[in-house]
Amino acid sequence: MTDASKLEALREREAPLEMTPERFREIGRALVDRIADRMASLAQQRVLPGESPEQVRSALEARRGLPEAGAEPEGLLREAADLLFAHSAFNGHPRFLGYITSSPAPVGALGDLLAASINANVGAWKLAPMASEIEAQTIRWIAEFIGYPAGCGGLLVSGGNMANFVGFLAARAARAGWDIRRSGLAGGGKEARRLLCYCSAETHTWVQKAADLFGLGTDSIRWIEVDSRRAMSLDALRRQVEEDERQGGRPFLVIGTAGSVSTGAVDPLGGMAAFCRERGLWFHVDGAYGGFAARVSGAPAELGALGEADSVAVDPHKWLYAPLEAGCALVRDPARLTGAFSYRPPYYNFDTEALNYFELGPQNSRGFRALKVWLGLRQAGRAGYEKMIAGDCALAAHLFRLLEAHPEFEALTTSLSITTFRYVPEAWRRSIGSPDTEERLNRLNQELLNRIEAGGEVFLSNALVDGRYALRACVVNFRTAPGDIEALPGLIAGLGRETLSAMEDRAGA
Ligand SMILES: *Cc1c(COP(=O)(O)O)cnc(C)c1O
Repeated sequence: MTDASKLEALREREAPLEMTPERFREIGRALVDRIADRMASLAQQRVLPGESPEQVRSALEARRGLPEAGAEPEGLLREAADLLFAHSAFNGHPRFLGYITSSPAPVGALGDLLAASINANVGAWKLAPMASEIEAQTIRWIAEFIGYPAGCGGLLVSGGNMANFVGFLAARAARAGWDIRRSGLAGGGKEARRLLCYCSAETHTWVQKAADLFGLGTDSIRWIEVDSRRAMSLDALRRQVEEDERQGGRPFLVIGTAGSVSTGAVDPLGGMAAFCRERGLWFHVDGAYGGFAARVSGAPAELGALGEADSVAVDPHKWLYAPLEAGCALVRDPARLTGAFSYRPPYYNFDTEALNYFELGPQNSRGFRALKVWLGLRQAGRAGYEKMIAGDCALAAHLFRLLEAHPEFEALTTSLSITTFRYVPEAWRRSIGSPDTEERLNRLNQELLNRIEAGGEVFLSNALVDGRYALRACVVNFRTAPGDIEALPGLIAGLGRETLSAMEDRAGA
């Protein structure tokens, strides 16, 4: 083909990815119908498919090569829905109580479809005028919802890890004491080796990734002991900071946890904020799980001091029930965000006065994550969210009381919407605490958790509570009802007895 004839052929251009509006309408309606059918039958399905990786791979025909020619999208979407409906873990199921992954708000799923159709690039205002403004409004609403100052800066990121990284990097740029963005850690000379951050021993693993990725190294983390409620000991924090300063260390950041990942413990945020003000330290709060409960009635009072932090991470894909992914970083002084992230390359013709999100965070091109969060906030309103979050907490407390009253369980902790407990055969009850019984209880509960998962009727996760292997129910699920909670003790005790006899059979064999 000559160049001229190639160009001629393009005049009738038929791109293999194009879809006529009529086809889009037809295929889209069929897909939405199937999703709605699936929602209607969700509670009757298994929570987890309970299959091996081999089984899932063979359903996918994973070894099939890259298709040379294309195919009709209608069949592909049907097949994709079949595969996903048959082989997924359903966090929208009323009995999905494992980890902190919420039931997704249906309006958020539709919002994602709309956002993808617009394909706004929310890195620059010019490329996403309304989307940028919707994100800014979402940030202001989130701040208001949790009691953070309205004049703060902030942005949406992929999740809690990234939101905490943003706080960590803002702190690093603000408090290193030299121009760490330009000359790096090496530019700090001896000082660099002494940069230290402080967090409770219950802190989520994001802090290790942050210290590692941003060059400080995990030795720069001071893990502060916790008290009997698993909240940071303020005395221990003060002692460690003073000791490090005496040794020539350079404390720059204190991290408070507002709802720990294992048990929902809340650090003494008010005392920590006052201590940081006194010492000129940056105070960051990891509220990825509990932040949204800050102003919900009945929530731990310490959460109220979250508004005093220099930066806060919250996770709309947790307690705002947004479909994955959506995390949110808030920074009290908006200038600290540009102070940590802004560059202005010559190839961008963007108004420097405009709201250009690429200057406020680590990403360049950015999707329109805010839409699903914004729609959820509008559909439920502040009152609606308070009701859902308070309901989740009430169900976790209800479970705790039921377990306390049951002869085969030891209820361990309950805070926010997390309850931890373990199965204890009645005959072992009196020897709780003896090393031998503890070791056997740990093995029993670990095996029981796998049996619960394989059963597919409910999904729980685990926690280590003072060395005890605990089962952990975490309700971040507006679909969970009292009946789901009331079914658990009987269900789990039955599986506990089965697990025990399987263990005894093995020991006897
Ligand atoms: C979930 C969680 C994180 C991490 O958030 P992702 O959204 O999973 O990245 C960090 N801290 C706490 C306390 C969490 O619960």
